[in-house]
Amino acid sequence: MTNNETLKRRRDAAVPRGLGTSHPGVFAERAKNAEIWDVDGRRFIDFASGIAVTNLGHAHPEVVAAAIQQAQQFSHVCFQVTPYEAYVALAERLNDLAPGMSQKKTIFFSTGAEAVENAVKIARAATGRPGVIAFSGGFHGRTMMGMALTGKVVPYKIGFGPFPADIYHVPFPTPYLGVSEDDSLAAIEMLFRADVDPSRVGAILLEPVQGEGGFYPVSASFMRALRSMCDSHGILLIIDEVQTGFARSGRMFATEHFGVEPDLMTVAKSIANGFPLSAVVGKAEIMDAPHPGGLGGTFGGSPVACAAALSVLDIIERESLCARASWIGERIADRMAVLALHDNGIGDIRALGAISAIELVMDGDPGRPDPARTSALVAAARERGLLLLQCGVRGNVIRFLPPLTIEEALLDEALEIIAESLAETVAVKTLA
Ligand code: PMP
Repeated sequence: MTNNETLKRRRDAAVPRGLGTSHPGVFAERAKNAEIWDVDGRRFIDFASGIAVTNLGHAHPEVVAAAIQQAQQFSHVCFQVTPYEAYVALAERLNDLAPGMSQKKTIFFSTGAEAVENAVKIARAATGRPGVIAFSGGFHGRTMMGMALTGKVVPYKIGFGPFPADIYHVPFPTPYLGVSEDDSLAAIEMLFRADVDPSRVGAILLEPVQGEGGFYPVSASFMRALRSMCDSHGILLIIDEVQTGFARSGRMFATEHFGVEPDLMTVAKSIANGFPLSAVVGKAEIMDAPHPGGLGGTFGGSPVACAAALSVLDIIERESLCARASWIGERIADRMAVLALHDNGIGDIRALGAISAIELVMDGDPGRPDPARTSALVAAARERGLLLLQCGVRGNVIRFLPPLTIEEALLDEALEIIAESLAETVAVKTLA
């Protein structure tokens, strides 16, 4: 019989434990927009979107139709063997959409980590410098370079080293945790004095809003300070928009909130609403630095994924999903603010567009994270039919990732479930 319990047993026997799963007892059977039904017939509201991927909801009819049409024409020929128009057309669209006025070029891959790997390759080829500075709490993927750049040891790096050399970490500005922008900038200056000459640094890499790290946004002044620091030392600024791109921040790319132009930008996740696709978009002369044949991959820029992505871009524009993201983020943050009036465990509420989160602490103290309550909240919400995701360097952040197309009634139903689950977990804590 196919049910969650038997599938879970088969999964545990057939798939290694190293692959973590947020909701291991919920085997998806079908999904539509913001709802997922499991194999036991239970229905869940999806506040995970496959980790910020299905911004347009599950099985969006237009995206599905675009993918089917392309699959019927051809699903793979490899751009390195015989090129095709969907790849070029999507590159043109991203070149136009990318922040800043410089002429751009785009190359496609399949995963976010692969985009990050290649952004570093391109930066090294363009500058001839090996060093890359990244930030504590940042997440950039699970490949060797992705892990090296990631600023969180457990569970991402532990036991998997050694990692590529010439990677340096500095503190990410998180005012809520007592790290100011000036602290971060001073740490880079100190790094230049203590560890690496800036002339050996090819790139500074960061997320405009740390994703896995806890949904901490940078400020415009910090981005501008980094931009001018990069310019004065001939260092490239790489912005990792893998989790923040494609309307979720209230703009097409979160970088647009900060008024700077990156030299290179990585995108993935929601670009094709669930079809595996990633890209590096960057200033044309930098993108052209690697020699012919130096970049590529068999599946990079799959025609099916490119066709899906072209329809994603049309839908974002036509349905004004940037504005909808801002509306969703405000609706969530407003409700959380009301709940926080009577719940001092909600230590912080953050939202940049729909990139919204709450941080759970003990007695309102930012220095005392409450990961146990955060896990209990995820479990309580799941019991009530809502799928949430935990994140944060300290494991005490709930990030809210509904599709941007979620129906208003479902959004409100989900917020009600969060309110009930927060109340339940306060009660549990008092009993304990
Ligand atoms: N960069 C960021 C900012 C991410 O959030 C992620 C995935 N969570 C990655 C890179 C890696 O993407 P992927 O899992 O597709 O390799």
